[in-house]
Amino acid sequence: MRTVSGVHVAVAGAGAFGLASALALARAGFAVTVFDPAPLGQGASGVAAGMLAPEAEALFDAASAPHLALLRRGLSLWPGFVDGLDIPLLGDGLRIEGETTWLVDLQQRALAGGLCPPVWSNDGLTMTGDVRLEARPALAALVAGLHDLGGQLQPHAVTAFEPGRLVLSDGSVRAVKHLVVATGAARTLGPLAPELDHLTPIKGQIARLVAGPADGPVLRGQGVYVCPGAVPAVGATMESGRDDLDPDPGLLQPLLRAAQTLRPGLRTSGARIEVGVRAATPDGLPLVGPGARPGVCLAVGARRNGWLLAPLVAGLVAAYLTGNDPGPDAARLDARRFDRESEATF
Ligand SMILES: Cc1cc2nc3c(=O)[nH]c(=O)nc-3n(C[C@H](O)[C@H](O)[C@H](O)COP(=O)(O)OP(=O)(O)OC[C@H]3O[C@@H](n4cnc5c(N)ncnc54)[C@H](O)[C@@H]3O)c2cc1C
Repeated sequence: MRTVSGVHVAVAGAGAFGLASALALARAGFAVTVFDPAPLGQGASGVAAGMLAPEAEALFDAASAPHLALLRRGLSLWPGFVDGLDIPLLGDGLRIEGETTWLVDLQQRALAGGLCPPVWSNDGLTMTGDVRLEARPALAALVAGLHDLGGQLQPHAVTAFEPGRLVLSDGSVRAVKHLVVATGAARTLGPLAPELDHLTPIKGQIARLVAGPADGPVLRGQGVYVCPGAVPAVGATMESGRDDLDPDPGLLQPLLRAAQTLRPGLRTSGARIEVGVRAATPDGLPLVGPGARPGVCLAVGARRNGWLLAPLVAGLVAAYLTGNDPGPDAARLDARRFDRESEATF
């Protein structure tokens, strides 16, 4: 595989896509600086539950179901990607509980869809295959991995770019050959990346418990999940078209009640709502690769699976910038695919 030596690349955005791409680029020999004005972990990537869950996504999210093979490829890249990083992959699978008719329907759909076969036990279904990570520590570990390779994270927004000239929010100018736009649901870099026009925001609200299951499988009930961890998560809403970060005060109690129905005795006092905004494309897959403007490469549009797909997207970004073959997923994720469709129509 071709690598490069010391070519300067800037990445706008220190979420899962931006940091994973930065790491893949640093591993390929680029001199990488990530810019993000927000504190690490404040964006959607820090709010996320951290499930790397092709099986659950294909079962519970109609928009993800057609992409099962791609989502599984995304998961398969994680063990190699975390080599040398402090990112434990926690593999306890999925436990589904609820009314029998609902479970029977899920089991049939799982079997028909070629998912890991669900197994009945104690009036519920268990499925293997999915894993999870701790999102905020994972972001910190990606930054540490980037530092180890000489890369940096700096607290500025990117405001303008042309090859050789990157302008930052403090007015400074850097000599940078490529810009990776990994700005999540933000649209401020639209003049540099008109492809961002294809993104729709999806607000997500998730409850964080102060205590609860630290490990074990992700638990799913009808309309709710409980994701174990250091700060267990109960989630989550999908509010298409909304990009505000205001917690809905009426949401916390219904979410917690649903979780307690699933696990009576779950300790919910002290729980709080966190809000993140996902970015979705019309076909539910990210926009990855060269944009219309010279020197700009996109890595956005992660929707519900930004963590799951981060190593796959990062590999594509690194392949494009090194000139290597981006492989079989490149066409489906092509950053310009919606513009090409409209060019073909007229
Ligand atoms: C409630 C919830 C639960 C979720 N659970 C999961 C899950 O379990 N598993 C999973 O895989 N995914 C999950 N997701 C989805 C996942 O969080 C997103 O798909 C993913 O985090 C998107 O990553 P990103 O890097 O594209 O964007 P972000 O994490 O939003 O990062 C974009 C960054 O760009 C920065 N930025 C914006 N403009 C500029 C600029 N001009 N210059 C520099 N920086 C800029 C922002 O400050 C931000 O930090 C969840 C999302 C939510 C909201």
